[in-house]
Amino acid sequence: MADRDGFIWMDGEVVPWREANVHVLTHTLHYGAGVFEGVRAYRTEQGTALFRLEDHTNRLFDSAHILNMKMPFSKSEISEAQLAAVRANDLASAYIRPMVFYGAEGMGLRASNLQVHVMIAAWEWGSYLGEESVAKGLKVRTSSITRHHPNIAMTRAKANGQYINSMMALNEALASGCDEALMLDPAGYVAEGSAVNFFMVKNRVLYTPQLTSCLNGITRNTMFRLADELGLHVVEKPITRDEVYIADEAFFTGTAAEVTPIRMLDERQIGEGKRGPITEKLQSLYYDVVKGRRDDYAEWLSYLD
Ligand code: PMP
Repeated sequence: MADRDGFIWMDGEVVPWREANVHVLTHTLHYGAGVFEGVRAYRTEQGTALFRLEDHTNRLFDSAHILNMKMPFSKSEISEAQLAAVRANDLASAYIRPMVFYGAEGMGLRASNLQVHVMIAAWEWGSYLGEESVAKGLKVRTSSITRHHPNIAMTRAKANGQYINSMMALNEALASGCDEALMLDPAGYVAEGSAVNFFMVKNRVLYTPQLTSCLNGITRNTMFRLADELGLHVVEKPITRDEVYIADEAFFTGTAAEVTPIRMLDERQIGEGKRGPITEKLQSLYYDVVKGRRDDYAEWLSYLD
């Protein structure tokens, strides 16, 4: 990733990709206290647009607030910088990664002189879970790693250190021949995937876990509006793993993963064992919305120019 042409926005300046470096004593590298976002820009007929940019910027600031990190830039500066990062790299579609981190000004948990830094990178990133999964669905296993308790790690924050938990779950799933992990919360109910929210369909009703252990996903929120358009009711409630085994359909959502069906959980086939009809409708509506084919969702798109 580090050795490529392009530009990265760092603390208010656009610097060459290879020169966007930090010191090995960078505080966030040692203790994981930092926050980040994942945003996508899509090629539309009207030009390149970032999807739900303002919502991502708001969540970045909320995450920083939860960790009590003082943002050195305004929300409009950070939104503008994300557009600038895509422009600087001349990208028609992109994944955008803003991150807020402590620098190398001090070491130890008591360091009081730490400065908050912000970087924003943008690059071309295709389907996160693979083109085939988007059509056929994922093989998933319930993880032996429990998702965070809200009073151990602040689950409303998209914080760097939280992803140790996600990576352990994902690596365990991959090592056992699965594509993704389904993580349970400390009470044993379904929380989310390693970096994706979870939905299931039963008798034409959509179910998703409440926002206790899972991230307040922007794609999750988008599903609520799309489901409404399709006349589907969405219920947020505790979900058990055996409820998933007997669901008609199940899928994950995320900015990177978009809408990806689940075909199997713990060796049990979900529904027909392939992308279900409601998942397919939501997926195709999602693509229409992010790709600017629906005027009534235009407020969610921020164009480069
Ligand atoms: N949960 C976790 C832990 C994530 O990292 C992500 C990706 N940001 C999601 C869910 C999905 O959130 P969003 O739809 O906002 O990308």
